Amino acid sequence: MTVAKRTFDAVIVGAGGAGLRAALQLSEAGLKTAVLTKVFPTRSHTVAAQGGVAASLGNSTEDNWHWHMYDTVKGSDWLGDQDAIEFMCRKANEVVVELEHYGMPFDRTDNGKIYQRPFGGHSQNYGQSPVSRSCAAADRTGHAMLHALYQRNVRANTQFFVEWIALDLIRDQDGDVVGVTALELETGEVSIFHSKATIFATGGAGRIFYSSTNAFINTGDGVGMAARAGIPLEDMEFWQFHPTGVAGAGVLITEGVRGEGGILRNASGERFMERYAPNLKDLASRDVVSRSMVTEINEGRGCGPDKDHVLLDITHLSPETIMKRLPGIREISIQFAGVDPIKAPIPVVPTCHYQMGGIPTNYKGQVVVPKDGEPNSPVVGFYAAGECACASVHGANRLGTNSLLDLLVFGKSAGESVVEDIQSGNLSLKPLPADAADASLARISRLENQTGGESVAEVGQAMRRTMQKHAGVFRFDKLLKEGVTAILDVAERSKRTEIKDKSKVWNTARMEALELDNLIEVAKATMISAEARKESRGAHVRDDAPDTAEFPNGRNDNEWLKHTLWYREGNRLEYKPVTMKPLSHDVEPIALAKRTY
Ligand SMILES: Cc1cc2nc3c(=O)[nH]c(=O)nc-3n(C[C@H](O)[C@H](O)[C@H](O)COP(=O)(O)OP(=O)(O)OC[C@H]3O[C@@H](n4cnc5c(N)ncnc54)[C@H](O)[C@@H]3O)c2cc1C
Repeated sequence: MTVAKRTFDAVIVGAGGAGLRAALQLSEAGLKTAVLTKVFPTRSHTVAAQGGVAASLGNSTEDNWHWHMYDTVKGSDWLGDQDAIEFMCRKANEVVVELEHYGMPFDRTDNGKIYQRPFGGHSQNYGQSPVSRSCAAADRTGHAMLHALYQRNVRANTQFFVEWIALDLIRDQDGDVVGVTALELETGEVSIFHSKATIFATGGAGRIFYSSTNAFINTGDGVGMAARAGIPLEDMEFWQFHPTGVAGAGVLITEGVRGEGGILRNASGERFMERYAPNLKDLASRDVVSRSMVTEINEGRGCGPDKDHVLLDITHLSPETIMKRLPGIREISIQFAGVDPIKAPIPVVPTCHYQMGGIPTNYKGQVVVPKDGEPNSPVVGFYAAGECACASVHGANRLGTNSLLDLLVFGKSAGESVVEDIQSGNLSLKPLPADAADASLARISRLENQTGGESVAEVGQAMRRTMQKHAGVFRFDKLLKEGVTAILDVAERSKRTEIKDKSKVWNTARMEALELDNLIEVAKATMISAEARKESRGAHVRDDAPDTAEFPNGRNDNEWLKHTLWYREGNRLEYKPVTMKPLSHDVEPIALAKRTY
């Protein structure tokens, strides 16, 4: 197979919020920029974001970035890096106002300011009372954001390669990144994208779980490509289960519903969150609400004939409020649960939602790895932002609306770093290695020639069921140990997958097989990292690490206040310190404390 070569200053893989925000920075600086995407940019998964983007604008209630920083560190269960968190919270107002100027149609308050609603874990005055911090465009914030960013990129002449799937990262003999290989879905052609800088913005990998709010395209491609290229993956044991997926369907009901006054009830109609989080109640952090719901269900207080879900009640809100603020949610509820929320409560269960870990980066969006005794040494030419990256601002648990903020702030800063590195002459076009496309061609050739293997769908299903059973909302030592053996077995099976009907092999079938390679890397990293972390922290809650006086909430800071790094080679684990020091010397670190809401 011949391999064409295309050359750019920068190649961005991914056209969701993170990729588009980074691209804008580069194109507006006059750099020749290519953006590769599996789907049309405005169909990227950011489109699904409903509730809003966090910024301490203080338009509805008093607010400031110090409170936002405190909430984020506490939400992360102190695993988030405080330099990156300070950077993100301080930049929030700037990037949101910038977006408004790009044409983002935010909802408005009566006096014309950006409308803000409360969200879980966001508070005033260091945890005292809920704050309205989420800037929203009804319940379609991500949709509006993608359109504003895409149009701005068209204006800036960003070059889009739509329905192209990046296959592998190319590193040279020094370990520097010099581009990617990619397959065009229409033609099946494989190309090399040769570049001075490569930015990954490939989104999450929620499809490793059976029940997920994530779209089918969320297959962890960037994370898988990085792992295959020898980059370790950070904190992959931490997955957020969103409390309110529609029972039986997994589709998300935004936390904004509780922000607007929605209440969770058990079979006897009790507002049970008052028992688990007396202060913030239904607006406690997501991990806390998810576990409370599962506890209610496990203890027999679930709803429905099988007592397998709880109810989200907004029947006390006026129909006008629901139609104005939550029109999409009403539609989802009618379509997926058969319930009009104006008249009856919505059946909900916790569902996999967000990947806190990913490709390790610093607050400048540079990918960093341990090297020569330095835990965070930048990989030349390689940057990442958005859900595929781990900056790490979400630590062990992300606060709602901090993800859209993360992709704006770190998409922009990754873009700024590339511009700076290229314009200062630190980054130039290095030669491609002779074998640049070999690994990708070998993967494609295996798929064409493999016989006697299982179907991609069968192996994918085995992976999803294994992850759901062994690494779900609550984690058990025995199940995790068995899960490691089970997922390694599924990984072996994935090496022998076969596209069954060879008489009509579509590139979409190839794509599903190639995506499974990436999902498997994510699944292995998750299970192995989770089995090894012998404490409870944030979204990772083990039955053998309960709440005690010595270890509040089961958290063991003496041994486990550290980031996990999983290496694909040999499934090796290493650890690196959490940055407890904020970026600015005049900002006080948020001291360790028990997390209560
Ligand atoms: C239902 C739902 C609601 C949410 N609501 C909110 C919210 O209200 N507020 C909030 O802060 N967060 C929310 N989140 C989280 C947030 O939406 C995501 O974390 C964020 O949008 C991810 O953006 P991204 O740019 O990193 O990736 P995405 O938007 O997922 O984009 C990934 C891009 O990468 C491309 N891509 C992937 N692999 C390849 C490949 N191999 N080759 C080429 N292209 C590739 C895709 O085509 C796509 O363009 C929500 C998440 C879900 C699932």
